[in-house]
Amino acid sequence: METGIGLYIHIPFCRQKCAYCDFYSVLAQPGAIDRYLNSLAAEMRLQGQGQLISTVFLGGGTPSLLTARQISTVLDGVSRYFLLAKDAEISMEANPETLLNTDLAAYRVAGINRLSLGVQVLDNDLLPHLGRRHTAQDALTIITRAQAAGFTNLSCDLIYGIPGQTMVGWQHDLQTITARGLPHLSLYCLEVHDETPLGQAINSGKMQLPDPDLAADMYDWAREFLPQQGLVQYEISNFSRPGFECRHNLIYWHNDEYLGLGPAACSYRSGVRACNVADMDTYACLVQSGQRPVGSSECLDVRGSAAETVILGLRLMSGVDAHKFVQRFGVTLEDVFGDTITDLLQRGWLVSTEKGYALSAHMVPLANVVFRCFLTDTNT
Ligand code: SF4
Repeated sequence: METGIGLYIHIPFCRQKCAYCDFYSVLAQPGAIDRYLNSLAAEMRLQGQGQLISTVFLGGGTPSLLTARQISTVLDGVSRYFLLAKDAEISMEANPETLLNTDLAAYRVAGINRLSLGVQVLDNDLLPHLGRRHTAQDALTIITRAQAAGFTNLSCDLIYGIPGQTMVGWQHDLQTITARGLPHLSLYCLEVHDETPLGQAINSGKMQLPDPDLAADMYDWAREFLPQQGLVQYEISNFSRPGFECRHNLIYWHNDEYLGLGPAACSYRSGVRACNVADMDTYACLVQSGQRPVGSSECLDVRGSAAETVILGLRLMSGVDAHKFVQRFGVTLEDVFGDTITDLLQRGWLVSTEKGYALSAHMVPLANVVFRCFLTDTNT
């Protein structure tokens, strides 16, 4: 497998805003997508220097609002300005609603070899609470059609902790999805952002979040159930059959380099994290006039970068790799975080592995508590 960087391409369009979502996206107006693809090509011209790309991730927004022809245009740009590895993983996020009248095989022909479906929940009473316009049956139909179109590398996102969701409903969703034989699942606890319609409904008392203990029980149940179905937990929120781990996201968790294109997309290169402006018009003006559309950037010092590498690595069940840490920073994990590691091993929050350290199984749901220890260590 060739080792290059990851390329994230933001497709900032949605048909309507979901009630819980705080990602940057705008409503798709006629002609806006083609205009955006011109800007994206301009940014590729600016940023592309023939870098080897191992993974491409089309995220959003709703990349599946693009036709297969438009996706093909985007990937042609990638091949033109970068060096796309022959075995590159090329993922596209998709909202089932947008694919109902679409020839899914055309996306495969365009170059997509991994599809990530935003199923979220299989309950027609809960989907409108989330602002989703598809039904449970629509989502299942798209799964069947994607499989028939030859998408063997197929993932779906599910959300737990939704107002009104029950344990029985959650179990039903996981049983229904796993019965379809998908090789990858991502499970997210509903995050409530104050500025979203869901956040406002909860803050004003119109809606109530479920008991946090119930959400925790839902996660625990999934961690027991999914391995019995052959889906191994490889990251805090992700489960897959062996060999179907998301290679693009592994780049993030290994704290390796990636380049983000499009408004609000972030990059991590040579120790610098830079995020593009989160505004379509400003983005278009900048790239069309030959300027990089960076809105903010941060140069991480070595200690900050080391802490980040540990925290991201610990998200993986395989843990943080001590040998790679030495290769990267020229010092051992123990040199930098010796006291914290000793303390966490004594508490039973970390375990030693063949390659380094990992969260102990009972701390996976409480990973943030462990992460804070490394951040505190950094600040001392
Ligand atoms: S969840 Fe996805 S489809 Fe919904 S508004 Fe956010 S980016 Fe758009």
